[in-house]
Amino acid sequence: VSVTQLPSTMRAWRRFAAGDVRLVEVERPRPGAGEVVIRPLVSGVCGTDLHVLHGEGLGELPVPLTMGHEVCGEVVELGPGADAPGPYPRHGSALRVGERVVVEPVLPCGNCYFCRRGHPNVCPNMSHLGVWRDGNYADFVAVPAWRATRLPDSVDDVSGLLVEVTACGLNCVDQAGVKPGETALVIGGGPMGHMAAQCLVAAGAGLVMLSEPSRERRALAQRAGVNATWSPETDDVVARVRELTSGLGADVVVECVGRPVTVQQALDATRRRGTCVLNGLPSAAVTVDITELVFGEKRVVGSLASAWQFERAIDLIASGRLRPRLMVDTPRPFAELPSALADARDRRDLGKLVVAHADG
Ligand SMILES: [Zn+2]
Ligand SMILES: [Zn+2]
Repeated sequence: VSVTQLPSTMRAWRRFAAGDVRLVEVERPRPGAGEVVIRPLVSGVCGTDLHVLHGEGLGELPVPLTMGHEVCGEVVELGPGADAPGPYPRHGSALRVGERVVVEPVLPCGNCYFCRRGHPNVCPNMSHLGVWRDGNYADFVAVPAWRATRLPDSVDDVSGLLVEVTACGLNCVDQAGVKPGETALVIGGGPMGHMAAQCLVAAGAGLVMLSEPSRERRALAQRAGVNATWSPETDDVVARVRELTSGLGADVVVECVGRPVTVQQALDATRRRGTCVLNGLPSAAVTVDITELVFGEKRVVGSLASAWQFERAIDLIASGRLRPRLMVDTPRPFAELPSALADARDRRDLGKLVVAHADG
């Protein structure tokens, strides 16, 4: 594909205000220095997109803004210096036009204290695709070349798109420092929690448990190898976890909801000296009782997005040890994005919602 064949304008789903997303015709992005332009093939809908759409938990956001940050696409244009390594050395050769990539949506500055120490996902100057910078719910999106990772042929488009959420699950496991044979609980069986649970299984946790209200999501988790699931609506999850762990609680708990009640459950279900990973982004301040946390010397650690887990996620998907595709039903047409966003918020029985760009 040469540049001259690309249109000068494109369709983009843009957010104009809280809850207001519209399909508009805009200029096609041109690649800046060190950037590539990607033609999205499939895009994902995730909780972060809902926080963006409804303006919850992320502070003031720029408008209008093209939404979307989970994408598998094809490189269609290279900007000047797109073959440069960026702030970190790249594995393998520079990207070429026509290659299929997944994009790491965290866009760190590459220069600050944290970036220079290899922690780009906590960069205080970061931008993020579809949050502070135009994302991929569009016919084209420009991204820094060093944030795009080439996909092998053995990883299909939808699985490729799901490398991102898989990498976020791996980051939770890394933050937990889980060891083979340890017991683990995940709170929240949406796509993020589901992948955290799959990653815990792959990491060798001896017993993986899940708390999730939706029967469909619990069944999905069991198909993926989760050993025990409960509904927090009908079960005392902390008591059930203690029953299966000799009264101790789980070695590792990963919280993927971010509400006060679930954060408290996560702390309570963590055994003394165990690790509780907080991954759910709260919409408002969360107040918790920390008494047992102090008495039990429990470790609490946050987990934000991912850093350095993309290659591992790709390898684990290519080998079949992680199966994020289990979460996806039929992709929806690009034109139906608003209904996908609404369903991602309201339909707790659904897995991961994916939009296919090929309809127009
Ligand atoms: Zn996401
Ligand atoms: Zn930085």
